[in-house]
Parts: sequence; structure tokens; C-alpha cells
Amino acid sequence: MLVLSGPSGVGKSTVCARLVATGRYVWSVSATTRAPRPGEVEGKNYFFLDRATFERWIEDGQFLEWARVHGETLYGTPRRFVAEQLATGRHVLLDIDVQGAAQLRVADLPLVTVFLLPPSLEVLRARLEGRRDTPPAEVERRMARAQAEIAEAPRFDLQLVNDDLDAVVRAIEARVGA
Ligand code: 5GP
Repeated sequence: MLVLSGPSGVGKSTVCARLVATGRYVWSVSATTRAPRPGEVEGKNYFFLDRATFERWIEDGQFLEWARVHGETLYGTPRRFVAEQLATGRHVLLDIDVQGAAQLRVADLPLVTVFLLPPSLEVLRARLEGRRDTPPAEVERRMARAQAEIAEAPRFDLQLVNDDLDAVVRAIEARVGA
């Protein structure tokens, strides 16, 4: 299992897409209570659940980890999906926040954790502002949250600055193995 954390806008999805394209990694599909963004597909980007269903999954022990991430939105990693993917013999890639990473770190799992850092906070802000679906108030919330998340980076096995995509992918592959 490879956990990839980092602030919103740092480029986690791009790194994940590159790793998945090698064929040696599969993406863990999380569940969330937020609404789909334009273009997002149920079962591919997320399992979109209403709150009551998400809470039932918590009670039933269906999550490997779960956390409240932006405001009231809940995100979680379904246990069964990860187990099925690991059984295929590939690495499972989890794009989860620092709270989720902390929960997995204390469990006895075959895990490498990577924290992706922006080249600077200015670059991160520019990326968030460039997302047309993120309103200004949300950019401010995500920037505040980014600083709290970056403070957690030393707890990860690897800290990588996302200024060179190829170098980031190579460093991850070197640590995780083929
Ligand atoms: P977004 O709403 O932009 O897709 O994701 C927001 C944040 O939720 C990201 O920082 C992402 O890492 C985190 N996230 C997505 N899925 C999970 C999950 O299953 N568990 C946890 N703990 N965080 C998640």
C-alpha cells in the first residue's frame, strides 16, 4: 500500500495517474459524502454516499480509515476494495489526507507513506486559484489547511517536492519497488 498525502492542489492526482499508467499500481477508490464534481464518475473517482450510508459503513467496520476533511465532508477508504486490489498482486495507491495516513500508520499494514510538498506556498495558491471549480473562500480554507498538513510531513517515510514529475515518480518507485 502506498499512501500519497499532501495539500489540496499539490498535484497528487497527476502523480497517481502516472503510477497507475505503469500497470503496477491500482487506485483505491474512496467513499465521500461530498457531491460529484463535473466529470467525476461513481465508482471510479469516488463512491458518492449520503451521510446516513457513510455512517452505516463506519458502524459496520467497512472502512480501513476515515476522516472529516473539508468542513463536514467525510472521506474513507473501503476495506474490501483495498483487500481485493492487493490480492491482484499490485500496489494499491491511496490518495488520503494526513489524518487517514496517521490511522493507517498505527495499523499493522505493508505501507509506504509519501508526502508531496509544493515548491512554495505561492505556487500552491496559484494552482488552487487556477481551478475554476474552487471559489475564493474555499481557496483560503485550503491554504490554511495546507499549512497544518505540511507540519505533518516529517511523519511520512518520504517527503518529495513536486517540482519535477518524473523525479517524483522515480523516487516513489525506488522506495516502493517494482
Ligand atoms: P477532494 O474533495 O478534492 O477530492 O479531496 C479532498 C481531500 O480528501 C484530499 O486531500 C484527499 O487526500 C482526501 N481524501 C480523499 N479520499 C480520502 C479517504 O479515503 N480518506 C481520507 N482520510 N482522506 C481522503
